[in-house]
Amino acid sequence: MTRIAVLGSTNMDLVAYTARAPERGETVTGREFRTIPGGKGANQAVAAARAGGEVAMIGAVGDDAYGAQLRDGLEHAGVDTDLLHTAEGPSGTAHIVVDDSGSNAIVVIPGANGVVTALGPGEIAAIAAADLLLMQLELPLSAVVEGARAARSQGVRTILTPSPVQPLPDELLDHIDLLVPNEHEAAELSGQTEPHAAAQILLRQVPEVIITLGAKGSLYAARGGEPVLFAAPEVQAVDTTGAGDTFVGALAVALGEGRPVAKALAFASSAAALCVQKPGASTSMPYRSEIEADAV
Ligand code: ATP
Repeated sequence: MTRIAVLGSTNMDLVAYTARAPERGETVTGREFRTIPGGKGANQAVAAARAGGEVAMIGAVGDDAYGAQLRDGLEHAGVDTDLLHTAEGPSGTAHIVVDDSGSNAIVVIPGANGVVTALGPGEIAAIAAADLLLMQLELPLSAVVEGARAARSQGVRTILTPSPVQPLPDELLDHIDLLVPNEHEAAELSGQTEPHAAAQILLRQVPEVIITLGAKGSLYAARGGEPVLFAAPEVQAVDTTGAGDTFVGALAVALGEGRPVAKALAFASSAAALCVQKPGASTSMPYRSEIEADAV
């Protein structure tokens, strides 16, 4: 079984559904409210666990009711939460307003995620024991850099989702094996809107890149090789939230099992395509049996 450590965020998404988002200073009456476990770290952890990985989550929740709920949700998905600390104060929250056009406006408050500025011996040991380390950018950069460096020094493969996108220091990129931006993040990081051109620029700093292209699939590029476009299965998308995290979680499991890149991408693409056919993020992530039944 692929052992995966996820160093990342855990948030409670507080989602208000409304016909129209309020203007500044205005109050509108919405239709529905939902609390949905989220955070890119936790989402990737759940996706990887469902896809068949043995997953340890490294991060923090608050000592509030959301923290307990978030921990329970991860444990229910089979994720090891021994290294998910409970910090004093509120859990991370994302305050999301979704209007009838499907557009959203989001305020993220890091809460407990923000206290993860450094790693302890337990976290370093868990990273060293893993086959792969998954990271995103919703924790303080100092912790992400430390995690990447620790993984690399132990020969643990590192995968970074550069979201929310921000300039990436060399001290981080020097320790990344595979960068998985979406189209928008790739353009922002490379200054190139065309994915092939963006990949070529990004390959100057990391050995492998996968740019996810939504319904168009994904572009894989490695130093010294020709970029390859992998099509996504044609499906009726209902809600694409969490597609990127599902893709990365499943990809990590498949790579850790030693599948060649093309097979690993087929597995990840099937997982993500199954995710977009159901509403929600972590709730719509598929289990291994569903992915295997679907993957060609
Ligand atoms: P999100 O932020 O919605 O989680 P993202 O922007 O990080 O997603 P995308 O590039 O939109 O990432 O999607 C990731 C992967 O999910 C794609 O490479 C593709 O394999 C799959 N995917 C996304 N949208 C669709 C779709 N409409 N049909 C089939 N597959 C899809």
